[in-house]
Amino acid sequence: MKYTLFVTRQCNLRCDYCYIGKDISAMPLELARRVVDYAYARTPPGEQMDFVFFGGEPLLEFDRVRDITALIEQHPRFDPIAVQLTLVSNGTIFSDDIADYVREHNVAFGISCDGPPEVHDRFRRYRSGKGSAATVEETIRDAIDALGQLMVNAVYRPETVDALPDTVAYFSSLGVRQIYLTPDYSAPWTPAHRRLLGDIYRAVGAHYKDYYRADDPHFISLIDSKIALLLRGGYQPGERCSMGRGELAFTPDGGIYPCERLVGDGGGAHRIGHIDGAFAPQLMQCHHAPKVDGAEAAPCAECGIKPYCMNWCGCSNYFASGYYDRVSTLLCASERAAIECAAEVYRTLEAELGDMFFDHASGSPLMNSI
Ligand code: SF4
Ligand code: SF4
Repeated sequence: MKYTLFVTRQCNLRCDYCYIGKDISAMPLELARRVVDYAYARTPPGEQMDFVFFGGEPLLEFDRVRDITALIEQHPRFDPIAVQLTLVSNGTIFSDDIADYVREHNVAFGISCDGPPEVHDRFRRYRSGKGSAATVEETIRDAIDALGQLMVNAVYRPETVDALPDTVAYFSSLGVRQIYLTPDYSAPWTPAHRRLLGDIYRAVGAHYKDYYRADDPHFISLIDSKIALLLRGGYQPGERCSMGRGELAFTPDGGIYPCERLVGDGGGAHRIGHIDGAFAPQLMQCHHAPKVDGAEAAPCAECGIKPYCMNWCGCSNYFASGYYDRVSTLLCASERAAIECAAEVYRTLEAELGDMFFDHASGSPLMNSI
């Protein structure tokens, strides 16, 4: 069960591809208390709970994050084994206090960085127009010094996708070992861009193999998540997102959304309820009858790699195709390229280095963070 709290809609950046409507609101503590109570009440005993602090930039309201953390941890049903806290920051704010908080509360701390400065600053700038890369790079270095590890998520678009291998190398040079790579599904991807994905992912795979050969493995979501699926025989029912049921997002005004990516400007488009009002949990995922938009891809129903494909992800589908249940040509091309890349990496490294991916099948701590 994943509960995302939009601590605030404020942000000090104005990323070109941001989908969050900005305002100065912060989640009142009393409302956060109702959200936390609600989350515990609707989570079956023994179920894993993930509370995610999100925004805007949640660290603009660090005191509020700490107060909500206290609400979560002081709840009578709090179980440190079953409850995971995550905080996602834009990397422009960091301090010794924040590092202490992350350590003390075992928070999974992640920041958004799109790659080397020339890539990152293309889209992730301050309101003034100044790029944020220098500050974010400093935060990455400081956070790794203080915490020992850090999750970094890079968004790539048609304009930056060819830099993806350099982005991975850049993160590696900074000491990052948990790398998440996420396409911007809403970007204007052309057939030419989609055809490049195979070569680009293979170049990322080449870095991945080199790190393993140097006895310095890196987690790279694009590859590790698919290797895990190849070993487990595909996505299991519990691994698919169930936005609107097993996953909810709460805005500072108490609005309930099926997924944090569908909050948008907080208007009515995807709003499914309010913390104080009637709310009918809905299952909005689409894996029962995914369709492929356009003529380039074969229908999912006849696709041999369907078990390994995330064609069921309603929000990715929505951003690319405008429908929860219609798979885009980008997602299809990206999933095909990622699965092929992961299979090649797996075969090569298993042949060279022996049985090394057993943890992916069972779910090591790192794999569980997917
Ligand atoms: S840091 Fe996040 S919330 Fe802020 S503008 Fe960028 S994408 Fe939007
Ligand atoms: S790769 Fe995925 S989206 Fe493409 S046809 Fe196969 S199941 Fe559908």
